[in-house]
Amino acid sequence: MCDFTQREYSCGHLRWLASKHCSEFKVKRKRCPPNITDFEERPNDICGECKPKKHPEGMIAFVNKMESKRRVCQL
Ligand SMILES: [Zn+2]
Ligand SMILES: [Zn+2]
Repeated sequence: MCDFTQREYSCGHLRWLASKHCSEFKVKRKRCPPNITDFEERPNDICGECKPKKHPEGMIAFVNKMESKRRVCQL
C-alpha cells in the first residue's frame, strides 16, 4: 500500500496526494489501495477545480456569443 496525504479544502473537496509509494507500485506501476497516513486542512484554500479559471477577454466574449445563440435556438 502506498502512503497518501488527504488534503481537505475549504470548498469541501478532498484531494489525495501520494506521499510515499510502496515497492510494489514501483515495480508493477499498478495502483494499490491507498493508505492514508496524513490529514491536511487548507481552510484558506480551495481546490483547483473550484478556483476561478482565468480566460482571456476574447474567450469570454466568444462564450457569451455562443450562449446567446443557443438561447435563440431554443425558442
Ligand atoms: Zn502501494
Ligand atoms: Zn473544490
